[in-house]
Amino acid sequence: MNIAVVGAGAAGLFLSRLLSETRNCNIHIFERTGKPGYKVKASGGGKANILNTQISGECYNNAAFIANLLSRANYQTIRAEFEKMGLKMSVDEENRVYPSTFFSQTVLDVLLNGLSDRVLFHYNTEVLQISSKGRHYYINEDSTAFDAVVLASGSPAGMIAKNRKHFDRYLTDFKLQQKEYRPSLVGFKLEDYPVSLSGCRCKAICSLYQKDKLIYQESGEVTFKDDGVSGIVILNLSAYYNRLKDNKNCAVSFNLMYDDADYNVGGHLRKYGSLCGLIHPKLNRLYERNPFDVKDLRFKIKDTYELEFAQVCTGGIAVQEINEDFELKKYPKIYAIGEMIDIDGVCGGYNLFFAWASAYIAAQALINQHYAN
Ligand SMILES: Cc1cc2nc3c(=O)[nH]c(=O)nc-3n(C[C@H](O)[C@H](O)[C@H](O)COP(=O)(O)OP(=O)(O)OC[C@H]3O[C@@H](n4cnc5c(N)ncnc54)[C@H](O)[C@@H]3O)c2cc1C
Repeated sequence: MNIAVVGAGAAGLFLSRLLSETRNCNIHIFERTGKPGYKVKASGGGKANILNTQISGECYNNAAFIANLLSRANYQTIRAEFEKMGLKMSVDEENRVYPSTFFSQTVLDVLLNGLSDRVLFHYNTEVLQISSKGRHYYINEDSTAFDAVVLASGSPAGMIAKNRKHFDRYLTDFKLQQKEYRPSLVGFKLEDYPVSLSGCRCKAICSLYQKDKLIYQESGEVTFKDDGVSGIVILNLSAYYNRLKDNKNCAVSFNLMYDDADYNVGGHLRKYGSLCGLIHPKLNRLYERNPFDVKDLRFKIKDTYELEFAQVCTGGIAVQEINEDFELKKYPKIYAIGEMIDIDGVCGGYNLFFAWASAYIAAQALINQHYAN
């Protein structure tokens, strides 16, 4: 069996690794860039937060889809596969799983080192067209006939505008239902925002509101920038912001008394005459110019930052287009896995989990078919 894989990212590499020991199975990986796994390398700030021990549907934009997936591939399933590959892992206090080296290259190395010589890489080869003739598929103008194709080309998150100009154009002919890609796990641009806060980092309870309805709340460190805010907690808020039907009238609120919600701020002011010693100096200077509620410093959200600053995208191929093996319903033997599917999760190893788990399920389906024939 000849299998073409579009994209040497997390999903494409994991699938190829799982298939590489399959007898008489040749895998051709087509990769647009000159290197494999560039997002795996960038993930977790270079440490690669590859999994989370507490995967559940609620951490994603489609809880029902993930609940179904977990019955076929869960945290233990994927962890066991990585262990078989020789990857030692460590879990932090927030259930995030990293390679024990805390070095993302280790993950790439275990994926690449175990590949058999039946796996061939075609670097600097962008897939522009997939055509079919009889039972076979063909990539670009090449004459190699493939029995199956796995699409694993990811999303335009993290890409500068120039590079994402023709992103996904090879999918146009498939006429699939696709949701527009929008940046997720990304900072917010804020309205009427004082640039003087730029550079301030502090902890806060951060709340996303639409009108006065609380949508989501999380505590953590916030980084104030020139025109907005970022930080893991804000990235998570952006995932919930993207799940709203429309993003109008949204605001983000900061409770700066994150570890003592009942603290008597008024009493502090009366006693000391200022908030110096209580809040970050830049916030204190802002307060002195323009007093605000320290437990509810609120800004309207203008927009998220652009795609190039996003860790993932919301949008992609609608889940209705794939069956439970991640095979396209309209195109037998073509599979779509990873971030190109309209599934996205919050920060903490959830997005890589989805890339690995979807690859695992598609690989099992391909192995079963191969031995059945
Ligand atoms: C800065 C950053 C940090 C992140 N940190 C984490 C983290 O800590 N934990 C976590 O769970 N997730 C993290 N993510 C998200 C995670 O990396 C992605 O969700 C995951 O890599 C998606 O895997 P994928 O295989 O679907 O896509 P990708 O890894 O993006 O791979 C797709 C591959 O396909 C190639 N390609 C695209 N189009 C074509 C084409 N037409 N022809 C040939 N090749 C093509 C691309 O060049 C790429 O190599 C992070 C993302 C970023 C950007």
